[in-house]
Amino acid sequence: MQESQSLLATARSKLEKSLLAKGLRRSGERFAILEEVYSRNDHFDAEELFQAMHQRSYPVSRATVYNTLDVLVDCGLVRRHHFGEEDNSKSRYEKSLGRQQHAHLVCTVCHRVKEFCDPRLHLIQTNVGNALQFEVESHSLVFYGQCTDDACETKPTDSSANTEDSRKTQE
Ligand SMILES: [Zn+2]
Ligand SMILES: [Zn+2]
Repeated sequence: MQESQSLLATARSKLEKSLLAKGLRRSGERFAILEEVYSRNDHFDAEELFQAMHQRSYPVSRATVYNTLDVLVDCGLVRRHHFGEEDNSKSRYEKSLGRQQHAHLVCTVCHRVKEFCDPRLHLIQTNVGNALQFEVESHSLVFYGQCTDDACETKPTDSSANTEDSRKTQE
């Protein structure tokens, strides 16, 4: 876990500089939130982060969670995603430092997010950029669908297929 410790140290100093530059208070709460974010490997929403802080016995207000996430996104420590879910206002977040560029698969049933890397995406990015005289800085790619493994938490059960109405033929 040596690597994650040094990653967190880098993240902390980046946040510190950013708060200083913005004239924001360098409160312990913000650093505790950063630490929680960097301890996770998932794609979480603000509410989940809020709950996690409470479970950690480090209660912070929702407002602090939201505005700290904004700061973390601004200074490039956290990536914000809009995965096109039913609730459009809901953003998902993940740490970005030390992470490779990757694409996502989003299950529209259980909302689980999976990641994948494929070097061909980088090739497409370069080729398209060259062809259209465009300097591509980043991309985001999301595949939507449904998990086919048993791990899907809310895999639809085939109960609707068998609606046998027990109609009795009356004489
Ligand atoms: Zn991701
Ligand atoms: Zn699923």
